Amino acid sequence: MKRPSILVLGAGYGGLTTVVNLQKVLGTDAADITLINKNEYHYESTWLHEAAAGTLRPEQVRYDIKDVIDSVKTKFVQATVQAIDVQNKKVTTDNGVFTYDYLVIGLGFEGETFGITGLDKYALSIANVKAARYIREHIEFQFANWSTEAVKDDSRLTIVVGGAGFTGIEFLGELANRVPELCKEFDVPREKVRVICVEAAPMVLPGFDPELVSYAVGQLEAKGIEFSIGTPVVEATPEGVNIKKGEDKFEFIKAGTVVWAAGVRGSKLIEESGIENMRARVKVDKDLRAPGFHDVFIVGDCALMINEETNRPYPPTAQIAMQQGETIAKNINELIKGGETVEFVPDLKGTVCSLGDDDAIGVVFGKKVTGKRASFMKKMIDNRALYMVGGPSLVMKKGKFNVL
Ligand code: FAD
Ligand code: NAD
Repeated sequence: MKRPSILVLGAGYGGLTTVVNLQKVLGTDAADITLINKNEYHYESTWLHEAAAGTLRPEQVRYDIKDVIDSVKTKFVQATVQAIDVQNKKVTTDNGVFTYDYLVIGLGFEGETFGITGLDKYALSIANVKAARYIREHIEFQFANWSTEAVKDDSRLTIVVGGAGFTGIEFLGELANRVPELCKEFDVPREKVRVICVEAAPMVLPGFDPELVSYAVGQLEAKGIEFSIGTPVVEATPEGVNIKKGEDKFEFIKAGTVVWAAGVRGSKLIEESGIENMRARVKVDKDLRAPGFHDVFIVGDCALMINEETNRPYPPTAQIAMQQGETIAKNINELIKGGETVEFVPDLKGTVCSLGDDDAIGVVFGKKVTGKRASFMKKMIDNRALYMVGGPSLVMKKGKFNVL
């Protein structure tokens, strides 16, 4: 009998965890596993704010997929997925067409611009490792230009960060530490540089613990970060952004760099796949299958799950993506054996938000943490994610050990 084929799209947290666990749970020769990813490497999306600010080299954020998968059990194909046809069980890529018996879609997130004019064109998004490297180089280019131009344009040294969610705040934390280094490197007086965070909601990190939010804002302000709260960005232009400050009141902020960190959506390929979705995220069944498609699983940021306690979607996080990967591997194994799938139940351990390399805020197992202790925990969480995919050798190669 022909072995069933399992096709996994995307080697992010969700896709890689699915593959690593499939390798563990499937019996010898039980199935053919193929993993498709755009790059030959995985990147840690949760570290992208560091690569974007320039506090971590882009090479440190990524590792080769071949180093963490078992090439006997899994065939890796470097390819960009172009279309997913779930009716005909076919995936088209720039490196061939693939069929499957079981499909796992883990193509991750894209920046959400909510249709705001100019953002697609003039703002930069921390969406992947190449985009992060571009942001770093763009900021350095602005500093280099300012220091050499005869007539100085100070707006080159203004950086607007749109959105004070976790991505925006973590990026600001890195920038706060990076700006003094950039000033030194490019001979720029610190007072010439402005870093402004623009948030639409009435508070930073909407919904997070107010005491921790106040700590974070205080720490960032002390390092020169400005906040404009309750003032949504309504337009981006080549010169900067327009923000709404009241009923009919607007303010234009001239800026050489605009980084958009105001939310995410799933991969646009989901919208084109014929699977029912909301902002490119599929409201999955309890066992993580796409409704109506018994052979299609969705993992990570492309999946939407409602928390029944709050009646709101779970936030798209690496923590959940990795746990989903484990459940999907178990469920595919059960289906192959003719068994029953199990329900996915997230096990949320908490949230830690870094404020640079040396500071953080968080709630872990229900307890609030700040400062160096929180920063230490964040690094341990980062190292744990490496361990779960690549074991101790990956932690030794890529782990964070600069514990203060
Ligand atoms: P991803 O990790 O985005 O992986 C998707 C993969 O698919 C990538 O390898 C990509 O190259 C590949 N791919 C995409 N399109 C194609 C295509 N067309 N063809 C082939 N391959 C493709 N979450 C936490 O839990 N904790 C944190 O501390 C945290 N920090 C974050 C910090 C930042 C700056 C950001 C942006 C996010 C953070 N998150 C955090 C959220 C977390 O990164 C995401 O929830 C997580 O990455 C989702 O995993 P995923 O597997 O769905 O997708
Ligand atoms: P988010 O949706 O959590 O936050 C986006 C922020 O942008 C919100 O505060 C929103 O009010 C604001 N915003 C929206 N429209 C705006 C506008 N027009 N002008 C100004 N502000 C606007 O998105 P995110 O921060 O990118 O996070 C994405 C996901 O990744 C979340 O699930 C988050 O929990 C996760 N994440 C987690 C961590 C962590 O655990 N340390 C770090 C980063 C991201």
